[in-house]
Amino acid sequence: MYTYQSSKSLFDRAQQSIPGGVNSPVRAFKSVGGTPVFFEKAKGAYLYDVQGQQYIDYIASWGPMILGHGYERVVKAIQQQVAKATSFGAPTALEIEMAELIRSMAPNIDLVRMVNSGTEACMSALRVARGYTGKNKFIKFEGCYHGHADAFLVKAGSGVATFNIQTVPGVTAGAANDTLTCAYNDLAAVQQLVKENKGTIAAIIVEPVAGNMGCILPKPGFLEGLRQLCNEEGMVLIFDEVMNGFRLALGGAQERLGIDADLVTYGKVIGAGMPVGAFGGKRHIMEVVAPLGSVYQAGTLSGNPVAMTAGLTLLNELKNNPQLLTELDNKTQYLKEGLEKELNAWGQPYVINHFGSMISVHFSDHPVTNFEEAAAANNERFKHFFHALLKRGIYLPPSAFESWFLNNALTKEDLDKTIQAVKDSLEEL
Ligand SMILES: *Cc1c(COP(=O)(O)O)cnc(C)c1O
Repeated sequence: MYTYQSSKSLFDRAQQSIPGGVNSPVRAFKSVGGTPVFFEKAKGAYLYDVQGQQYIDYIASWGPMILGHGYERVVKAIQQQVAKATSFGAPTALEIEMAELIRSMAPNIDLVRMVNSGTEACMSALRVARGYTGKNKFIKFEGCYHGHADAFLVKAGSGVATFNIQTVPGVTAGAANDTLTCAYNDLAAVQQLVKENKGTIAAIIVEPVAGNMGCILPKPGFLEGLRQLCNEEGMVLIFDEVMNGFRLALGGAQERLGIDADLVTYGKVIGAGMPVGAFGGKRHIMEVVAPLGSVYQAGTLSGNPVAMTAGLTLLNELKNNPQLLTELDNKTQYLKEGLEKELNAWGQPYVINHFGSMISVHFSDHPVTNFEEAAAANNERFKHFFHALLKRGIYLPPSAFESWFLNNALTKEDLDKTIQAVKDSLEEL
C-alpha cells in the first residue's frame, strides 16, 4: 500500500527534480493555473488521483485510450508479450502484422515505418519529403502542432513569408528559415506563399482536423485546395493524423474527408497508450527511406514488440468492430447537444467545434476557424470553467487550446453527469 500524498505535495517534490515538475509542459496546468492532478490509476472512462478521487476522463491520454483505460484485451496482450520478450533490436513478425494492418485500414499507405512518438513521425516525414523533392522549405499552419522537432517550433506572423522569426530559444535561425507559416483555413495565403517561394517548397504539413488549438475544422475546399496546389507544384502533402488517425474513421481523416495525402503520420491511438508513432505513404516517396534509399531514419526501440502488441490489439479491435467508432461519435454528438442546451440557457457567447469524437468549447462571440480566433476567445473564462468542472470530478484538457477526446467507455450516465456539472459550473462563472 502507498501512503497517498496530495497532488500539491507531489507537485512541490516533482519541481525539485523535473523541469517545472512535469515531463510535458501542458501537464503543469500553466494555462489554467492551479496544481496539476497526480494520477494513480485508471479504468474505463475514469481516472483516479493519488488520493483516490475519481474523475470522468475527457483527454484519454490525448487520444490513445479511445476504448477506455485498462481495455481488457489490450492489457492481456501486453502481459503475454512482456513474458515472451520486451525488446530484441532485431526484426519481429509483429512489425509486419502492424504494417499490414495499417495498410489495410488507411488509404495511400504503401510503405510504413514505425517510430516511438508523433514527434519522430512528423520529423521523419518532413525529412523524407525533403529528401524526395530535393527542396528544403515547407509550409505549416499557425496553431497546428507537429511535435517538438526544431523545424516545427516556429510561430506564424504576417512577416513570416519573407523573414521567419525565431520564437523558441534553442531553435536556430537556420532551422526556422525553412519553415513557412500560414493561418489555418486560409487557402489564398498558402497560394501566395507558394508563389513567393516557387520551386523551393518540399511539403505542406497539416492537421486535417486540427486539435491543438481546440478542435478546429477545415473549411470546405481548404484541404482540397492544398491537395491541388501540391499536385501542381510537385510538393508533398503530409497529413499529420497523430490525433485524427484511427479516431475520425478507421482510415483517419483521409477516409472521412475523402482526401488523399502523400505522406501520413500517426501517433496516439496507434500505440494504445504505449510510446508509438508511424509515418508512411506512397511507395515512390517512401522508397527514399534507408536502407531502401538514402534518407536515414532509425530507432533502437522502433517497432518494439510490447508496443506493437498493444497497438495491434487496439487497432484490430477497432477494425473488427467498426460500430465502436460510430458509438463514440454518437456519444460525442449527445454530449454536444447537452452542452449546447446548457450554454444557451446560460446566455453568454460560446462556440462549440466538433468533428467525430473531437470536440471543444471556446468562449467566443465569433466563429473559431484558426489560431488567431482561438486566441481571441475569452480564455480567462475557460480557466474558471476548467476548475469548476475539475472540482466536480470532470477532467478536461487543461488548456483552451486542446481538443477534448472522448473514449468509448463513457456511458450515457457519465455524459449526463458531465452535462449537469457543466450547468452547475456555468452558474459559477
Ligand atoms: C501529439 C501530437 C504530435 C506529437 O506527438 P508526440 O507523441 O507527443 O511526440 C504531433 N502531431 C499532432 C497533431 C499531435 O497532436
